[in-house]
Amino acid sequence: MAYPEQIYINGTVLTFDFEGTTAEAVAVQGERIAAVGSTEQLLKLAGPQTAVIDLQGKTILPGFYEAHGHFPLSGILEVQSASLWSPPRGSIRSISGLLDALKDKAANLPAGKWVTGFGYDPSKLAEKRHPSRYELDQAFPEHPVWLSHNSGHMGVANSKALALAGITKNSPAPSIGVIQRDPDGEPTGLIQENGALIEAYIPPLSAEQHAEGIRIANAEYVAQGITSAIIAVGIDPEPLVDAYNRKLLDLRLISIPLFQSDYAPNLVEYELGPVKSQGAKLFQDGSIQGYTGWLSNPYHLPSEDDPLYRGFPMLDREKLAQAVFAVHSAGRQVVIHANGDAAIDDVLYAIGEAQRRLPRPDARHRIEHAQSVREDQLDRMKELGITPSFFNDHVYYFGDDHRDIYLGEDRARRISPLRSAVDRGIRFSLHNDTPITPPSPLHLVSVAVNRLTASGRELGPEYRITPYQALRAVTIDAAWQAFEENDKGSIEVGKLADLVILADNPLTADPLSLHNITVLQTIIGGRQVYAQQGIDFNITTAGV
Ligand SMILES: [Zn+2]
Repeated sequence: MAYPEQIYINGTVLTFDFEGTTAEAVAVQGERIAAVGSTEQLLKLAGPQTAVIDLQGKTILPGFYEAHGHFPLSGILEVQSASLWSPPRGSIRSISGLLDALKDKAANLPAGKWVTGFGYDPSKLAEKRHPSRYELDQAFPEHPVWLSHNSGHMGVANSKALALAGITKNSPAPSIGVIQRDPDGEPTGLIQENGALIEAYIPPLSAEQHAEGIRIANAEYVAQGITSAIIAVGIDPEPLVDAYNRKLLDLRLISIPLFQSDYAPNLVEYELGPVKSQGAKLFQDGSIQGYTGWLSNPYHLPSEDDPLYRGFPMLDREKLAQAVFAVHSAGRQVVIHANGDAAIDDVLYAIGEAQRRLPRPDARHRIEHAQSVREDQLDRMKELGITPSFFNDHVYYFGDDHRDIYLGEDRARRISPLRSAVDRGIRFSLHNDTPITPPSPLHLVSVAVNRLTASGRELGPEYRITPYQALRAVTIDAAWQAFEENDKGSIEVGKLADLVILADNPLTADPLSLHNITVLQTIIGGRQVYAQQGIDFNITTAGV
């Protein structure tokens, strides 16, 4: 029998196995976990070359699983775009501040090259509105400009960008999304739910810039203890494979192709180096903080002057049902974005119809974000075996605005009602949707446990869950949701040695400091891919 390559001893091992066992030691052989138990038991397995790592009481967990995000976009944006975040994430408070940030980023950019920015939030700008096409023209008369809203669901273009994209007063309404127009029919520059109308004209990064973006994003994720991540709108895998071969990428990735997108015309399943494709992604609405979430009742404060406005669906209900059935009957996992409760009604109808026509037990169809899901909808989700992935970081980053602007007190307090899901025995994951919020599973856990907004106010404390329940949603339940529970999500013999070592035990730490727990090391397939600077566990090869 081969000896383990590493044995971690004297730790608190939170296994997240079926019984929720705690152990002291883990042995790793090759890519996988060889043994879990007490320090005394596992030391007996050591061979002459085995590295014995003394954790000195630190806590070791399964590596975190980011269940929905847009890897490597956070790194790509850092290479390509100006950062336009407002507090608490950034410092932009007005349109002039936003223009200054863009000018800094574009300082040496030759005329005609694109200026791009990401993350602006009209509700946090002094002017309380999107920047206009004409303000961007004035600041950048020589450059096409495209700014993406913090939701990623819309943006503003200047006149040069609109011209390059061929969008004029005479352009017909697009089949997806909205080109906003002034009373004369002239496009204002704001484009909702179809940024591709502009983005298709922005030249791609060079291969070198792309690789650098992947390297930056990978470093950012592993520093937070993430070992697997789902790319929630599938992308071309080639740059990822290339980065992996150049040792710039450590994460394990799942790419969910957009239904009927160019990258997955026939929903081809593949596994290439670090990335595999599965499921199919659909959208039934947009973003509540962008006024494109599809609600059953009007927004709290209307966006324009229509007090009855409640967003809009992406597809009519029967069309959605057809698309869902196509994915369902192909034996694949349906992954549908739905934030507003009216959109969730449509999704429940579509999945209900698909399951009625062709019952598929254990299909694990997913609803992404499920921001404003109602109690009766959770009952139906339980019946249909649907599993939500909650974007509960909203409680912190956008919770004050959901209460004061978009949803009002009653609906805002129950966004991401995790407790209601736990009470029904619905398994779910939590996600950061990076780059919409920074990658940090421990922040998600903290928000799930505390439900405090950025201003420090409680939002729906009755929906709090325990640290253990929240940690399941970023480990074993996220792995289960992606059909990977046999390989990932818990520390058990035979599973991949994807691990994270934390400075404190999140089950016993002060709940208010959960997000500040330091990630000491991240391990993927037995290989250390991140170590906090200055971390020096005593490593010996004192095997027998
Ligand atoms: Zn997303």
